[in-house]
Amino acid sequence: MTKLKKCAQCNSYTLKNKCSKCKKEPKDAHYKFIKIRNAPNSK
Ligand SMILES: [Zn+2]
Repeated sequence: MTKLKKCAQCNSYTLKNKCSKCKKEPKDAHYKFIKIRNAPNSK
């Protein structure tokens, strides 16, 4: 599966190993998926 990553530099999400905006290496944002799925608005 594809991992969602988040760039700590510009707060943008990416599926690649480099941020498309600032070319920084993004951090793993997998935990964000859990938060989003458990959010009340996602029903
Ligand atoms: Zn970035």
